[in-house]
Amino acid sequence: MYIPYGRQWIEEDDIQAVAQALKSDYLTTGPRVEEFERYVADYVGAKYAVAVSNGTAALHAACYAAGIGEGDEVITSPITFVASANSVLYCGAKPVFADIDPNTYNIDPAEIRNKITPRTKAIIPVHFTGQPCDMDKIREIALEHNLIVIEDAAHALGADYKGKRIGSISEMTTFSFHPVKHITTGEGGMIMTDQKELYERLLMFRSHGITRDSSKMTAHDGAWYYQQIDLGFNYRITDVQCALGLSQMKKIDLFIRRRREIAARYNEAFRQMDGIKIPFQAEGCHNSWHLYVIQVLNEDRQKVFDGLTKRNIGVNVHYIPVYTQPYYRNNGYADIMCSHSERAYARFISLPMYAKLTDHEQDYVIEQVKLLVQE
Ligand SMILES: *Cc1c(COP(=O)(O)O)cnc(C)c1O
Repeated sequence: MYIPYGRQWIEEDDIQAVAQALKSDYLTTGPRVEEFERYVADYVGAKYAVAVSNGTAALHAACYAAGIGEGDEVITSPITFVASANSVLYCGAKPVFADIDPNTYNIDPAEIRNKITPRTKAIIPVHFTGQPCDMDKIREIALEHNLIVIEDAAHALGADYKGKRIGSISEMTTFSFHPVKHITTGEGGMIMTDQKELYERLLMFRSHGITRDSSKMTAHDGAWYYQQIDLGFNYRITDVQCALGLSQMKKIDLFIRRRREIAARYNEAFRQMDGIKIPFQAEGCHNSWHLYVIQVLNEDRQKVFDGLTKRNIGVNVHYIPVYTQPYYRNNGYADIMCSHSERAYARFISLPMYAKLTDHEQDYVIEQVKLLVQE
């Protein structure tokens, strides 16, 4: 038995949905793309959605649509996957790292304030593990300084912030459908927005910067005619993937309910242990639990990690502070140090968390953690 830290849950109905798409007229750019977009938009409470080939493409497209470019700075968290910051680099702009709140592990609004300069154009808050960031404070800062907010919600499909679904709050919000995330399309991503202008820019960027909208073209030459008016990419997603995504979305409530149950069982098991810090519960928020991250307070983290791995438990560490990566160190981040991020990173372990994890498997994980972390 091997228990990974995260994995997909594919059933017969998902397989049928994919088979149907394969037998249909469209393998890509067909009706299932819009159907999937509509379904997720309705679920999160957004007006528009653009599905793309992966979550990183979603972030890149959002940065492009926001007009982020050379000379701009974008503030994000160091405790995230490299994609959040890389998407800023793709646009020729500079990621600026603001330290986390040591309780929530999310970007600290006070630290965002400290990092604002006349060049700051946007903020990319990351809802780490599915716990919503302090969006009221972040939106207040954005309003004050005229900044765009792009929420990296790769962890937070189905999470709520003060009664609002993540995906309905900021100018843009991005999701990922990688197999370890809440629902999967194999690879896939989506950008949510309420603004028509952003929506149109996202659509164009997804397909080479090409438009067929005559109001945006400088000439007209017939029904076949299109114009490339900017430099975009091929970031399209297939109908086959969207068929899987739609089928998965129909089970999202079950998936999230199960993740919340698992989190509650871990909390219960570790609450009384001095050697473990369990995740913080932010008031008024509903975490959707992409990850379950503990801090190992007294034991050597390496020892606990290796011990669990040896017992066939696929633990992980999320995340290595992005600015410590050699690529960042070699490109102007040699002197950066966010102390809360580094301290948390040194103690973090992500335990198995996915809807298909059974009580029996989880009990084994709990037992092994307890054996390795002295009470
Ligand atoms: C998964 C993830 C991404 C990237 O998504 P992909 O679909 O793998 O490209 C971006 N940000 C965060 C925080 C993620 O967890």
